[in-house]
Amino acid sequence: MPPETEIVRAPECPKSMEFGPCGGVEGDGRCEVAEHACVFLDVDTVRWSRERSALGPPARDTSPTPHTPADRMRALLGSGRVVVGDFPARALDADSIRECADILAGSTDAVLAGDSARSRVQFSPTYRAQLIRAAGLEVWTGLNCRDRNRVALEGELAGLAHVGVSGVHCVTGDHTATGSRPDARPVFDLDSTRLAAVARAAGHLVSVGESPATPPMDRRAERLREKERAGAEVCFVNHAGGVEPVRAFIAEARALGSGLRFIACVPIVVDVESAALLASFPSLVLPPGYLDGIFAADSPTAAGISAAIELSRRLLDVDGVAGVNLSGGGGAGGELRFADALAEVGSALRS
Ligand code: SF4
Repeated sequence: MPPETEIVRAPECPKSMEFGPCGGVEGDGRCEVAEHACVFLDVDTVRWSRERSALGPPARDTSPTPHTPADRMRALLGSGRVVVGDFPARALDADSIRECADILAGSTDAVLAGDSARSRVQFSPTYRAQLIRAAGLEVWTGLNCRDRNRVALEGELAGLAHVGVSGVHCVTGDHTATGSRPDARPVFDLDSTRLAAVARAAGHLVSVGESPATPPMDRRAERLREKERAGAEVCFVNHAGGVEPVRAFIAEARALGSGLRFIACVPIVVDVESAALLASFPSLVLPPGYLDGIFAADSPTAAGISAAIELSRRLLDVDGVAGVNLSGGGGAGGELRFADALAEVGSALRS
């Protein structure tokens, strides 16, 4: 009998990413979900090409239809003062969507409707966008690759074009193992870069996220350029620790030739619940002392609103920043309180 030999296989990306790394790489380089280093840390940035993406030809003509919400958003982005707010409504609750929309009316240019690690089960993106638009708000829909294969994503993109959304935020998504439904089988048929290409081909204004403070930090801007080559027009800069990291990241992207519009994420913390929800975001880095200042105040709610307004104004002054994303959530039962805070911050920025 031959001696037993152990077969050592190279680790694989648990999200089957072609254009990695994702934004969930741990600070020490470990994978978001597996007990090994992220497999993209030691390889060159993967260059975008349609052939490599394993996508078929674009499903639709890419010529934009005039006068859509996406065109209005493109024009607004040119003003450099766009305010997007994370939509705080309870999952699977049409009444909560209407109540939050009533509060937020007039205070933001669009609401970002994605999911969170605590609320993975949501109305389908298209139905949710329809409800939010019917309640009077413009929608920027977050679409992830975790829960749907490319056929289902293409169907949602067609539905979102029909409803009329301002933008589609294309993310790979956190692994199912890290959120509220670890029993679900992860899909990851596409990744954020490939989804950006499919969404652009479907005629959408496409945004992607990038995390300047997540390893490999020296190649995050390079990776973003590949998403741009795939079809992204806007980058949401994830919480990177304040104004200077955002300024440096945009400058690095511009030096690489990027023409993207940048929307900087602003942490909204008004109580313990909203701080806890924000802490569940992968690769979160807050400005130094941000939470201490809020929770040392007599009224954390008022202090959190003031801190968000001040940080937003400073970010909006950064060259290349086209807008801010008021980011976070209120936690279970705190949706309306959080919507009130968002409305106050958004109104102050738009006044
Ligand atoms: S950190 Fe993300 S990109 Fe890297 S191996 Fe893990 S899942 Fe894949």
